[in-house]
Amino acid sequence: MSHIFCVANQKGGVGKTTTSVNLAAALHQSGQRTLLVDLDPQGNATMGSGVDKRKLEHSVYHLLVGLDKLEAVRVVSPPGGYDILPANRDLAGAEIELVNLERREKRLREVLDKCTADYDFVLIDCPPSLSLLTLNGLCAAHGVIIPMQCEYYALEGLSDLVNSVKKVHANLNHDLKIIGLLRVMFDPRITLQQQVSAQLESHFGDKVFWAIIPRNVRLAEAPSHGIPGVAFDKSSRGALAYFAFAEELIERVKTL
Ligand code: ADP
Ligand code: MG
Repeated sequence: MSHIFCVANQKGGVGKTTTSVNLAAALHQSGQRTLLVDLDPQGNATMGSGVDKRKLEHSVYHLLVGLDKLEAVRVVSPPGGYDILPANRDLAGAEIELVNLERREKRLREVLDKCTADYDFVLIDCPPSLSLLTLNGLCAAHGVIIPMQCEYYALEGLSDLVNSVKKVHANLNHDLKIIGLLRVMFDPRITLQQQVSAQLESHFGDKVFWAIIPRNVRLAEAPSHGIPGVAFDKSSRGALAYFAFAEELIERVKTL
């Protein structure tokens, strides 16, 4: 069975794309058949996977509005090895066009239904909002992975996201659940981060992944080369943390 997970957090700059790209590459390296869906018009997951968003003739936009078939859009990330459905600014238009279409929140689900049998994992990199695009992601998924920085305001944003997941679960997608919270850009020297991290563990228990992604400059440098961090410098602390996270996820899905 394939596992379809959204990487979501309505805040920007919290590590969603870095997590999506590196997790996809790490899962692929572990022998898992993996598809990454770029659902953000910024196209950062596309660029970070070594696919030039400026040259796309077929993208997730075309899939969502029904202009293209999957085979026309799907490409392989050259440095990452996983498959990707790439995106660029065109996708911002889908947000508006979808409003007038039938089953507007189920469009991605219908697209993925045709290919999930090909994969062990499908990861969806969501935009930083609780928009119709994110709703498409949540309706298509079995679970949500929430990357978060251990900062004071992180907890505040979390309750909005948890409530949205509950609403989608109740009304649109009974399969949806929170798979776990992933602490990212973690710096153990900062006392506040340790405190928030401990708070997360006591509130959310085993919903908090034990893998922790450190703040690591190699992960931040990799996208400018169009290479996932785990392929760019596979012995960096950041890469090792994403490899550990991939292994943890592979174990965790066995218990779902
Ligand atoms: P989002 O997709 O949530 O907007 P990104 O993954 O694009 O967030 O990350 C925001 C910025 O932080 C990017 O410049 C990225 O390179 C950097 N970044 C993400 N994770 C790390 C990390 N663990 N260590 C250092 N920099 C990171
Ligand atoms: Mg992003």
